[in-house]
Amino acid sequence: MAIYNHFSQQLAGLREQNQFRQLPQLTHQGRFIHKDGKTMLNMSSNDYLGLANNAALRQAFLNQYQDQLPSLTSSSSRLLTGSFPIYDSLETLMANAFGRESALLFNSGYHANIGILPALADKQTLIVADKLVHASLIDGIRLAQCDFLRFRHNDYAHLAQILHKKHRTFARIIVVTESVFSMDGDLADLNQLVVLKQQFDNVMLYVDEAHAIGVYGATGLGLAQQQQCIEQIDLLVGTFGKALASMGAYVVCDQVLKDYLVNKMRPLIFSTALPPLNVAWTHFLFENLPHFSQQRQHLAQLSDYLRQQIVRLFNVTMPSESCIVPYILGDNQNTVQLAQQLQQQGYYCLPIRPPTVPQGTSRIRFSLSADMTFDDVTGLVGCLQELSA
Ligand SMILES: *Cc1c(COP(=O)(O)O)cnc(C)c1O
Repeated sequence: MAIYNHFSQQLAGLREQNQFRQLPQLTHQGRFIHKDGKTMLNMSSNDYLGLANNAALRQAFLNQYQDQLPSLTSSSSRLLTGSFPIYDSLETLMANAFGRESALLFNSGYHANIGILPALADKQTLIVADKLVHASLIDGIRLAQCDFLRFRHNDYAHLAQILHKKHRTFARIIVVTESVFSMDGDLADLNQLVVLKQQFDNVMLYVDEAHAIGVYGATGLGLAQQQQCIEQIDLLVGTFGKALASMGAYVVCDQVLKDYLVNKMRPLIFSTALPPLNVAWTHFLFENLPHFSQQRQHLAQLSDYLRQQIVRLFNVTMPSESCIVPYILGDNQNTVQLAQQLQQQGYYCLPIRPPTVPQGTSRIRFSLSADMTFDDVTGLVGCLQELSA
């Protein structure tokens, strides 16, 4: 149809610039995927603890039920009839685990991030976000329609400057960061942010732990637990779709903020709640989170090893301190080519290019999982060495 010509032309433009995206056709088998007739180690998933394919865990969950599984749909927003007891149990479990007044569940991290900021912010609010925060937070900031500024990535001196300059102009400032950043795998210094925030009486701190929940902390509660500042973070957000091998998201916060979100947050009010079966699975996994220390330790060891080897082989900068390990080549073409070669050799890793990352920092992003073995990773390192010899 003629009216669609516009769209096909735009798509043709994307194809020309090598930016055309397609849904990949693949099937999964444990930590491997099959694609285009090849079997490859999946180095691009967010299943950090390796729980997604843990059949024993799934069976243990299902064994709790005889023939009466929890419902597969909630049939309604939680504010109408979609709030099942399992939701409240999980919120109570989480609030207690984090030692905070309350927790509130959402359908996804994306819902959380596009909903919380617009609910809390008004014309007297300034949002100040790290330059590298996730697209969902950017969308939330846009929907908030309030003033906002970015501070240079992890540059708290820059953030301090902004806060000193602006804190009298606005009734409230919300500082937004991730704890583990998704493209560089580097970490925020949450304690430094807390100290900074506490110099002002009108600054709140919003931390997205999407890549950290499950992976960091003595009982897996995230980087805020590891850095011992859970109590000082106003809005501690995380998702269940990554290390927790489920779906959904949460915020832990004071009761007044939870009440406010329940009243004001559109993605919570106007979307059907997750199915009780899904929430029950999350509940089961969250209860078990303290018991995955071995997985956390193994993942940390695999990650240390891969980061060291990439630095040793290529003498590149390594921003990462986590299981997200970038090999920054810089050049677009070389990056795409190496990713293709690695896939040929059985390692499913993807090239990340501008505009997703800054110009001149094209990279291959390796995402490690606790169900990988040392042999898996030494195999990859051997392959990298051969391909670049
Ligand atoms: C993945 C991710 C999200 C989105 O979470 P979903 O549950 O997948 O919607 C939000 N924030 C960050 C930092 C993420 O990496």
